[in-house]
This record gives sequence, C-alpha cells and structure tokens, in this order.
Amino acid sequence: MRIDLHTHSWVSDGTQAPAELVASAAAADLDIVALTDHDQSAGWDEARAAAAAHGIGWLGGIEVTCRVPFTGISVHMLAYGVSRGNEELRAALAGLRDSRDGRARAMVDRLAEDFPIDWASVQEQTQAGSTIGRPHIADALVAAGVVADRTEAFAHILSPRGPYYVGQPALDPVQAVRLIHAAGGAAVMAHPVAGARGRVIGRDEMLAVVDAGLDGVEVYHRDNSAEGRRELLALASERGLIVTGSSDYHGAGKPNLLGENTTEPRALLRLLERTEAPEIEGFDASELR
Ligand code: AMP
Ligand code: FE
Ligand code: FE
Ligand code: ZN
Repeated sequence: MRIDLHTHSWVSDGTQAPAELVASAAAADLDIVALTDHDQSAGWDEARAAAAAHGIGWLGGIEVTCRVPFTGISVHMLAYGVSRGNEELRAALAGLRDSRDGRARAMVDRLAEDFPIDWASVQEQTQAGSTIGRPHIADALVAAGVVADRTEAFAHILSPRGPYYVGQPALDPVQAVRLIHAAGGAAVMAHPVAGARGRVIGRDEMLAVVDAGLDGVEVYHRDNSAEGRRELLALASERGLIVTGSSDYHGAGKPNLLGENTTEPRALLRLLERTEAPEIEGFDASELR
C-alpha cells in the first residue's frame, strides 16, 4: 500500500491545482494521499472531490509554520484530522497568513533594490488566496531571468543567511500541538532533522514538544539526515511516537516526487485513532490493519 501524507498544491507553494495534484497522485499509484498546504485548508474540498473521482483515499492536513521561541529555529507541524470549524485554529492560521504577506513584502522591498522584481511580479506567481512564501518570490526571480529555478534562488538570494531575508512570524511548536489537539487533530513534526534547510530543533526543545503531546515524527523525508533519522527512530520508540514518511511534493517547484517516501498503513491507522475524525475519504480504514 502506498501512502503519502505530505504534499502541497498552489493553495500554498506547490505548482498544481489541488485536483491536478490528486490526479498526479493517482497516476503515481498512491492508494492514499494527504494534501497539507502551508497554513491553510482552502484546497481540501477540491482535492476531496478529485480523490473520489479518481478512486483513491484522501485526507486533509495543514502544515503549520512554527518557530522555537528565542532560538528562531524553524519547525513545520503537520496537522491531520483537525476540524476546520475550530475558531482558535482558524484565527491562528489567519494570523500566520497575514504576517506572511507583510514579511514577503518586506523581503521584496529589499530585493527590489538589487533585482528587477516588485510586489506585483511576485503576486503574479500566486493564485488568489495562496499562502505566500519565499517560493513565490523565487518564481518571480525565475520569471525575471535572475535565476534558473527555485533551488538556485534558495541557495543564495533567499537564504536565511543572505541580506534579503526577513524572518517569518510563527507559532511556538508547543502551542501548535495544543491548538491541533484542541481542534480534534493529531500533530506530526515535519522533517525534524532537515539540516540542509538551516539549524534544526535541539534535543531539549524537541522533548518539550513531545511532552506537550506530539503524536508523530516524519522520519522518512529526503531532507532528513541519516544520523538524524537514527536519533528520531530511537526517540520514537522511547516515547511511542508514530513514524511517518512522505514526499513533501511541491509539483514542479521541487524535485520531490509523489510517493518517494511513504507511511506504513499501521502508522496511519494509529494516527487516525488519535483524531476525532478517524476516517479516510473514499477508503475503508480497516484495510490499514
Ligand atoms: P517560507 O516559509 O516563506 O520561509 O518558505 C519556505 C518554503 O520554501 C518551504 O515550505 C519549502 O517548501 C520551500 N523551499 C525551501 N527550500 C527550497 C528549495 N531549495 N527549493 C524549493 N523550495 C524550497
Ligand atoms: Fe513549501
Ligand atoms: Fe515543511
Ligand atoms: Zn511541506
């Protein structure tokens, strides 16, 4: 069984519509796919309908932008099975998206001094209502002929170590776990040991998130180091954390391929059992046993 629990559509920084992404997931022989756009769930309905049309299982997720207090270390928290009606979660996500707007504008102001881009050219790279981020700025730099692709843009110009970077306001991961649980969902820390992206969460901070009730860790992800995976697996068995694996597919925006890493059916079952909506659209969850 092929289960991929982490993908992005153009509702955030992927390059496909939610329905196109689901069509690609069916073509990649996935049995179950989760759509996990950054900081919002606006793509869920379209993706759910497409999954039904293609006869594959589907579940809705959100990748919530977090930052460890004081250290500034970036953490992404995957939320599964949350209720979209939860007011506290809705407000927190709306706040994140608002601040993303201001932050992206501030980066574009800095970049515009040295490169032929402006706010309008960045907005042209988004869909109405997309969660904006550095990938859209990268796309504007590509359109302006400054770099060949997103990867090149991130290597230097958009790097946190570069002169144009502006930090993104984010939630404390401990708070995010509480928020996700209050909304009836389960929380999985995405790519926790992705060293190439920047500094990763330290042992003590990680344990604080585990103590807050973290449900799982995304061990099988291309950006996680080999050493980091071993440590994560040890932590998972020590603390009973659910282990997932996923592609973090972004369409043409990243080399990541659908299903390049997958999650064991038993792990998904355990994850679902931690949520108030323990069902997969279009899929009999008892088949995961
Ligand atoms: P932001 O949240 O605006 O700081 O942007 C971070 C996003 O950029 C992440 O969600 C990644 O999907 C994306 N990203 C990070 N590094 C790269 C890269 N080298 N190539 C393409 N996308 C990237
Ligand atoms: Fe992304
Ligand atoms: Fe992420
Ligand atoms: Zn992601």
